[in-house]
Amino acid sequence: MSKVIAITGAARGIGFATAKALLAKGATVVIGDIDEGAAKEAGENLGAPAYKVDVTSRESFEAFLTKVEEEHGQLDVLVNNAGIMPIGAVEKESEADARRCMDINVHGVMTGTKLALDRMLPRGEGHIINIASLAGVLPTPGLALYNASKAAVVAFTEATRLEVQGRGVHVSGVLPTFTNTELISGTRSPKGQKNAEPEDIAAAVVALVGKPRAQVTVPAKFAAQIRMSALMPDR
Ligand code: NAD
Repeated sequence: MSKVIAITGAARGIGFATAKALLAKGATVVIGDIDEGAAKEAGENLGAPAYKVDVTSRESFEAFLTKVEEEHGQLDVLVNNAGIMPIGAVEKESEADARRCMDINVHGVMTGTKLALDRMLPRGEGHIINIASLAGVLPTPGLALYNASKAAVVAFTEATRLEVQGRGVHVSGVLPTFTNTELISGTRSPKGQKNAEPEDIAAAVVALVGKPRAQVTVPAKFAAQIRMSALMPDR
């Protein structure tokens, strides 16, 4: 795989596993994360360039993608992976919590998508992969802010995909289920459900890069759950 792939939030968790899996396939991977120290450590660990990027700042995101282009020629794939998960009852959330969740999870993806399209549409090629969540289609008590942010990512991704269809640029969404990373350290997984590992999600992203599709759910068996929830809106 000779693609140049930038991944946000890749200092740890799903982004890190994805960087590792894509590097193993021969891709050129550039790591971005707001946690500069952890990003550098991840970069050294994987033998990949790593930079600080704050996806909530258009200036920072632009500088990150410009660096990718200057050092590696062009951006072929952007994985919008950075995200946070506030946990708690809606009545206890502060305005700051809600704004921060939307800023990182939604505006971060919108900004990354816009900046990648600026680069990819004139060339008529490229791929934007947005890491949404099963939580975007299956609302869960205690995760309302996160649910809302990921539902926005699902809708934004699909609308953008349709908008640019036929112009050579692919836009895909990945909907992981609970995955063992720091993000979910404060939660309990639903009864009887085995969490995915970051490597499971990474494998789905690798497959998507090789063969673009609109949307994938990981593990795939949860796609049936989504269809069921669509039939049972009151669940
Ligand atoms: P994680 O907490 O392990 O990693 C997220 C990374 O994003 C961190 O390194 C963090 O520093 C970085 N980040 C946070 N804010 C940022 C910002 N403003 N700019 C740049 N980087 C920033 O989380 P994860 O579980 O690996 O999650 C990765 C993505 O997968 C997220 O979008 C998350 O919502 C999604 N997801 C995770 C799960 C899960 O169960 N872990 C399930 C579904 C979807």
